[in-house]
Amino acid sequence: MSLDTLHPADFADPGLHAAGLFIGGEWLPGGGIPVVNPSTAETLAEVPDATVADALRAVDAAEAAAAGWRATPARQRSEILRRWFHLMTDHAEELAQLISLENGKALPDARGEVAYAAEFFRWYAEEAVRIAGEFRHAPSGANHILVDHDPIGIAVLITPWNFPAAMATRKIGPALAAGCTVILKPASETPLTAYAMARLGAEAGVPPGVVNVLTTSQPAPVTNAMLADPRVRKLSFTGSTGVGRVLLAEAAKSVVSCSMELGGNAPFVVFDDADLDAALNGAMIAKMRNAGEACTAANRFYVQSGIHDAFVAGLTERMAALKVGPGTDPATQVGPMITTRAVQKIGRLVQEAVSLGARVTTGGAALPGSGYYYPPTVLDNVSPDAAIAHEEIFGPVAPVYRFETEEQAIRLANATEYGLAAYVYSGDLSRALRVGKGIEAGMIAINRGLMSDPAAPFGGAKQSGLGREGGVTGILEFMEPKYFAVAF
Ligand code: NAD
Repeated sequence: MSLDTLHPADFADPGLHAAGLFIGGEWLPGGGIPVVNPSTAETLAEVPDATVADALRAVDAAEAAAAGWRATPARQRSEILRRWFHLMTDHAEELAQLISLENGKALPDARGEVAYAAEFFRWYAEEAVRIAGEFRHAPSGANHILVDHDPIGIAVLITPWNFPAAMATRKIGPALAAGCTVILKPASETPLTAYAMARLGAEAGVPPGVVNVLTTSQPAPVTNAMLADPRVRKLSFTGSTGVGRVLLAEAAKSVVSCSMELGGNAPFVVFDDADLDAALNGAMIAKMRNAGEACTAANRFYVQSGIHDAFVAGLTERMAALKVGPGTDPATQVGPMITTRAVQKIGRLVQEAVSLGARVTTGGAALPGSGYYYPPTVLDNVSPDAAIAHEEIFGPVAPVYRFETEEQAIRLANATEYGLAAYVYSGDLSRALRVGKGIEAGMIAINRGLMSDPAAPFGGAKQSGLGREGGVTGILEFMEPKYFAVAF
């Protein structure tokens, strides 16, 4: 596969299928896992199905590269990440096409993802040279306190299918900046982007074994074997809360350090005094970026009584106007869902809400055809007892609930086990901040429909996860503090 020439027609080219496991800087060809285009339900390619033995070979490769990478001057690590950023940017269009093909997302979303993903390499190229320690006088006067930060060791990175590039770079960037070597296991639904990025990484000068990539249809035994290997010291996982819990239990056996970016159930709170147009624009971004397949996606719209009807009417009009179609079609604004199972789940949540009294103002039933399409949907008058209020929809459905008071809005927003993201719209900044302070979530967007930023700490409270990615703190997830008690 050459990224210079890659376009949809290349999927007929067996060169792409040869993309193999990437271990120790070598491509080990294989097959076994079909990659399906959700826009058409056709198979695009096959990627190798790694075994436990392959995974342990990847740990060997990461171990063989570890000492050299750790000893590589930070400036040099930084420059390699910077080159990788530029290569991603140079190949942005091919990467966007690839993401759109294997994930189904509309091209504008895919282009946005590539730009966002590449920024993690630029940000961590900048952070690599700013790793700091600490020096203090011990209050007892007995010694001095010197704190250094070591790379934590080999890191296993597991990513979901919804942002095939960004979820990988958000982990690889800080890990490499910190001096760690990694094994990336992308989701089987969207492995091609990860392999394509690995090629660019090698071109950027990432030494063999520093980044290894493997796909497997057996994530549990393969991951468990790596976690049981004492050379592996870090697990950074992005995915569902259910799988996160299983992995935390597994990592506990070897006391492996864990960062967990898990599910969300974001409230989107609109007060009477909000700018209606701005709230609608924000709602469309918060709901429809990535066709709703985002952990930060607005999952519950709480709208104050005075603005409720106008908000529902405006949202319905905007959602109904969106063009649904194949991801790579330039006219498409909303691509397909990832699988037919995802469409069924969304359908089940909508039907149950309707059976409890919700009113469908647009959409409301899966679209026929060979791809996995669900239309933009607005539900009004949704019962807070409906399953859709508690489960991640992960699709283009906006359930709207009415509220009266600020206290009620906070209580409703917090009525979930999740605590990843929340949105608040109000013309009164003090109120917006007060409400944001009352909401139990790791990230609050005020009068904005988007909060993701490589320079900001991304992560959740409650069962949405542990730790933060991005920002100044993201690199610390891949470092172990080392304290020296120094007498002098
Ligand atoms: P998932 O949990 O099913 O899978 C995520 C990854 O874990 C995949 O690579 C999968 O192959 C792997 N996996 C599954 N079972 C495993 C096991 N037993 N051992 C090791 N690996 C295993 O999630 P998904 O459906 O791919 O992604 C959607 C979920 O991800 C949603 O819940 C979403 O909210 C969450 N997500 C969270 C963030 C965040 O930053 N908080 C970002 C994106 C997605």
